Amino acid sequence: MKVVKFGGSSMADAGQYRKVRDILLADPGRKVVIVSAAGKRNKNDNKITDLLYLCHAHSQYGVDCSGVFELIRSRYLQIRDELGIQLDLEQEFAALKQRLDKKSITQDELVSRGEYFSAKLMAAYLDFQFVDAADWIRFHMDGTVDKENSYELLQSQVRGKGVVIPGFYGVMPDGHIRTFSRGGSDITGALAAAALDADVYENWTDVSGILMADPRIVDDPKAIAEVSYDELRELSYAGAQVLHEGTIMPVREKGIPLNIRNTNDPEHPGTIIRESFDTEVD
Ligand code: ASP
Repeated sequence: MKVVKFGGSSMADAGQYRKVRDILLADPGRKVVIVSAAGKRNKNDNKITDLLYLCHAHSQYGVDCSGVFELIRSRYLQIRDELGIQLDLEQEFAALKQRLDKKSITQDELVSRGEYFSAKLMAAYLDFQFVDAADWIRFHMDGTVDKENSYELLQSQVRGKGVVIPGFYGVMPDGHIRTFSRGGSDITGALAAAALDADVYENWTDVSGILMADPRIVDDPKAIAEVSYDELRELSYAGAQVLHEGTIMPVREKGIPLNIRNTNDPEHPGTIIRESFDTEVD
């Protein structure tokens, strides 16, 4: 079984949802799907998560954020309508706006709604089961993840059918939603892969893996086919930021290989990251 995570650019619009579906249909082993909030559709676009942070800041200062909120709401409704998904999101958005206006929602809970709505839509589109991250990712009081409890909770909720899980958040012992730091949906995917003993954790993004050079400097650099965890650490010291730093540990301790793939070039094998690569010696 494969756990697959799609980042914000893979969730940005209806066209990207179609690509995600094709990727899943191409391999029936891809059964557990983690999604980010909708990202940028083009260079000048906004990330939904950024808009949610902005909305919360507005409300804290007593400034009306209806305009920004409408940008968020309309992005999801547009995806829904373009794909013909039957899902009543209007009521959920209205209830959310009310809580925002009354200042009765925390920043973490508000920004987590980007991933939540992405997952609701994707689950309905694929006819997969929606499993809320709030129902299995448990944080300790110090903000670290209670892996033992979280893994058991996820195992008890995943049955034969495919599932879609929102990335980026979980709950504190008191039940409040808490998010990881930015880019944290990668961690959700790694935790799900570890909990379910996946054969591989595929992390789908908008580049074909770890590139051999900075694409802002070198035109169309090639991706590195294989990297060990230790080499990856060296690369991230050197500034190559592909994954959230908290992604490695959960999969490394279970010996699960991590495969970085490109949603816009699904035939490309991407980069495989694992403990070591044994070269065959005759
Ligand atoms: N949407 C969140 C962010 O932009 C989390 C993620 O996409 O990984 O940081």
